[in-house]
Amino acid sequence: MINNQTIRSLINTIQVFRSFFPLKTIIKESLLFLFSYKFTKGSSLSLPPAITFLLTKRCNLTCSFCFIDQKGKSLTSELSLNDIKKFVSTFPPKYKPGIFLCGGEPLLNKELIPIFNFFKEQGMKVGIITNGLLLNIDLIKDLSTASPDIMIFSFMGPEKIHNQITKNPNSFKTIAANIKNYQENCPSSKVIYHYILHRFNFSAENIDQFITDCLEQKLKIKNIRFLYLSFLTESELKEQESFWQKNFPDLPSPNYNIYLQTDNNFAPSEKELDIIFDYLKQNSNHYNFTFKPFLSKKDIISWYLTDFTLNRNCLFPWASLQVNADGKVFACQNIEFPIGSIKTDSLKQIWNNNNLIRFRQKLKKGLFPGCARCCKL
Ligand code: SF4
Ligand code: SF4
Repeated sequence: MINNQTIRSLINTIQVFRSFFPLKTIIKESLLFLFSYKFTKGSSLSLPPAITFLLTKRCNLTCSFCFIDQKGKSLTSELSLNDIKKFVSTFPPKYKPGIFLCGGEPLLNKELIPIFNFFKEQGMKVGIITNGLLLNIDLIKDLSTASPDIMIFSFMGPEKIHNQITKNPNSFKTIAANIKNYQENCPSSKVIYHYILHRFNFSAENIDQFITDCLEQKLKIKNIRFLYLSFLTESELKEQESFWQKNFPDLPSPNYNIYLQTDNNFAPSEKELDIIFDYLKQNSNHYNFTFKPFLSKKDIISWYLTDFTLNRNCLFPWASLQVNADGKVFACQNIEFPIGSIKTDSLKQIWNNNNLIRFRQKLKKGLFPGCARCCKL
């Protein structure tokens, strides 16, 4: 059965994206999902409530902890409005999934605005995940007609650390100026700041400095979502590759869309975690703080060490699809194993096809080695 930690993580996610889905849909989808997960041997009775489109795998930054692999970055094909229209034309008329546009850096896709407007015209909620650097005033004005329902900006820490990790001495100030313009022009859009927790920013002092730096740039702050850095060690990746060959010998080896960390000599101390949680508690009247995924203190400490395993379930392939920049569709954000393509297949052909059912069945028996530290847990 689904364990409590998984449910707490899921509730956190629903809280953050609550505005994306009407309450009726959340209740209906949750019931159908629970039924499918328990009784259907890997097929899903409802269509995915959310679909993520990686509009491009290019990025205008080269962050030290980038999760887009080198092979992915060199993937030059990008999703086009025509590909997306063709795929959406296979959706049942009343089906309105929540759409996430991300990358690489999604603002680099020249068709971002037509793609965004198309989804909004279909009556779908749209969220964009961006590093914010290219969000100039013209783009903001184009977006403001329909306004993204959620806009997520990724930060690597306070100004000094963010600039170091992104290797761009002006990135924090540029992004802050863009966000300020965005907040003024798109006031109905929910803005979330992602703060990626890694060894160089994992302290109450750095979180406080981040808030101070944002306020100095006159940014409105409401939602800060802390993401534990997703990564695999080299031995975990090797284990995952053997696991795949053993369990899916007839399928090609997937590409892995995950940051590979070679040195693991960092873990936050229990004392530091207490200081952080006290700090967040003291400031929780002013800001909404959430974490992705939900972890106990013990789990947080071991997350950053080697040989990390988490005892929980992954529900992602029952609830979501990820469309790659070349149109291939994946059931998982890290393990790029194609289950179809939006260029050739309909949603119906993809969603409960044999390979996806096999993937779900195997995952239900236990997490894969490559699932360690996945933010979807
Ligand atoms: S902004 Fe995101 S996609 Fe771009 S380099 Fe940084 S981590 Fe990678
Ligand atoms: S937990 Fe595993 S299967 Fe689920 S999304 Fe993450 S890597 Fe994929």
